Amino acid sequence: MKSQNQKIVSKFGGTSMGDASCMLRSAQICLIRKSCLVVVSATSGTTNLLLELGQKAEVGDWLEVERILKLVTDKHLRIAQDLKISQPPLAALKVMLEEMASMAKGIFLLKDGSIKAMDTLVSLGERMSSILFAEALRQIQASFQDQEKVTWIDARDYIITDHQFGKARPLVDQIAEKCNRLQGSNFYVTQGFIGSTVDGSTTTLGRGGSDYSAALFAEAIQADILEIWTDVPGIASTDPRLYSKAKTLKEISFKEASELATFGAKVLHPATLAPAMRKNIPVFVGSSFDPAQTGTWVRREVEDYPLIRALALRKSQVLVTLTTPEMLHAHGFLFQIFKVFNDHKISIDAITTSEISVSVTLDNSALLDKNLIHELSKFAEVQIEENLSLISLIGNNINHTPGLAHQIFSAIPEINVRMICLGASKHNICFLVKEAHGPETIRRLHELLIT
Ligand code: ASP
Ligand code: MG
Repeated sequence: MKSQNQKIVSKFGGTSMGDASCMLRSAQICLIRKSCLVVVSATSGTTNLLLELGQKAEVGDWLEVERILKLVTDKHLRIAQDLKISQPPLAALKVMLEEMASMAKGIFLLKDGSIKAMDTLVSLGERMSSILFAEALRQIQASFQDQEKVTWIDARDYIITDHQFGKARPLVDQIAEKCNRLQGSNFYVTQGFIGSTVDGSTTTLGRGGSDYSAALFAEAIQADILEIWTDVPGIASTDPRLYSKAKTLKEISFKEASELATFGAKVLHPATLAPAMRKNIPVFVGSSFDPAQTGTWVRREVEDYPLIRALALRKSQVLVTLTTPEMLHAHGFLFQIFKVFNDHKISIDAITTSEISVSVTLDNSALLDKNLIHELSKFAEVQIEENLSLISLIGNNINHTPGLAHQIFSAIPEINVRMICLGASKHNICFLVKEAHGPETIRRLHELLIT
């Protein structure tokens, strides 16, 4: 690994890989910042296209398969052409394009688009963009008369995971061991999102997982800084599409940022901060389109600890209420219920209980699993409410500040609050409202508590 004062791992998202000029601009950032390892996403929209390709192949829609193959192929060859990419990387790209066509054909013939097959298919998005990006980096480097060597590496040789295809969990110790090899060369370019099981099957870390990959690499090589370059100027106090006066945060603590990412902010993949927190690596979030802007620093210690720093809204929530008289003075009921959620690999966001009932919020995608409700109804009467939004206020000392709840709920007197969660974390209070009331709730609370 390049020897210099600071080890910087930089991650660029899909829009920063959008076309040749985006790639060159991102490459310039790497050079100026002296990143030693660069993690890239697939070019924007490609992961969705590859997933669609797999689905169309599985249902036997060959016309659509051909259309998508052409789209993805043209898009990547176009960038290659615009970059005037040299022969060896062009050949590598073409091999990957052929692999994509063969895989689509395989899925089509077998009518089998298992998650395992899909992981290999979508991994091509990151593998192709990283080939192109490595070339962009070489060119920018040459234009700066920089002699350092750019080395493309396959993330699957480093990010070792379990066998949970589609949402694999990293095996941190094995990753650290593999990353020990990363020495000697200067710029390493690799892929986000993808990994491999110990026995060599391709896995992915779940949608948006490139941030997580970058954090895992940063942890493994003991980086000093992790940079997440995206298309927005940093982490915002709330989603600007919900409230146009939202502002970019200068700083936010690890704990607040992980609540924010979990409860709806899209800038960072929720798991990203765990490795950074383990190794206390400061994370910078900035825009590759305007790198001169200040961006947001996520750190263990920050300068200010405001009561409310940011607001998040998570749409498409369902509230599942489980009621049973058997819960009265009984034990083990919550255990039984959580076991069902666990068996179905469903994550619960917020929870409240009374003596004979328990309510939990889930993403509405959880309802696709019909068996889940069936299993739950063996223990309790199940009631489901859909089309809700979870509003979260993120900040500091929330559970020890008198009057906050009063302020919040006085600001929305006519909006029905369906469930409230307060107390578990000093960094978060959250509640459910009807989806239609979500944006208005955010607007009022932002005006009241942030600006
Ligand atoms: N390309 C993957 C996705 O679209 C991973 C990422 O971009 O972070 O989900
Ligand atoms: Mg992302």
